[in-house]
Amino acid sequence: MKTRIAQAAFALTLTAAAVIAAPHQAHAATGPVVSGTGWKLQAPRITHIDTQPLTIAFHDTTSRTRLTPYVKNVAAELTSYGIPVTVSNRIVPTAVGKCPPRHTISYRWISKPNPDRPNQSFTGTCSLKAATYSAYVYINSDYWAPGRRFHEWQRMNVIWHESGHAVGLAHPTTCPRDKAGLQPLMCGNPYKDLRDRRFSSQDVTGLRRLVLNRAYYPPA
Ligand SMILES: [Zn+2]
Repeated sequence: MKTRIAQAAFALTLTAAAVIAAPHQAHAATGPVVSGTGWKLQAPRITHIDTQPLTIAFHDTTSRTRLTPYVKNVAAELTSYGIPVTVSNRIVPTAVGKCPPRHTISYRWISKPNPDRPNQSFTGTCSLKAATYSAYVYINSDYWAPGRRFHEWQRMNVIWHESGHAVGLAHPTTCPRDKAGLQPLMCGNPYKDLRDRRFSSQDVTGLRRLVLNRAYYPPA
């Protein structure tokens, strides 16, 4: 018990010291920042994105037709936060566990991509030297199925959420609401209990961190 209290006091001291330290000294002293209120990076595997733009591709022509209108908006939004993403017409076949070519995010539109969790979508993100390398995103086509009664905001939440994983975001440890009343889109169950549609302010803090953390690594 005594040890535990001592440790807590020590942690508090460290926090205070970090606040007092000049901001330009914090850089070298602390290393990359990988989590904060309502956001978290896939650290230590991924702490940043490199300087090369990311290109969106598609598993097949159906995936391209169904998902292009959405990912164009995702790409524009990520680009506005300093993560340059463009949408191509390219077909890049995906397989679970296989990394697409470097700087490529390939989207696949498919029913029940994970049969064990028939309502889910998922993303696999590959990394190299703590930077995002490439990703595949499997979007569950059941969200569009007649009779399933999914809403457009749910489809959007999932596509944006999985795209957040594709560039390097993880699920935050806690999911507080921001000033606009929105929970992080990267919190669990984006098709159930969120109405964000786009990245909320806390997700954006995480996305901007992926860019800021470049400062801790030699140029790619
Ligand atoms: Zn997720």
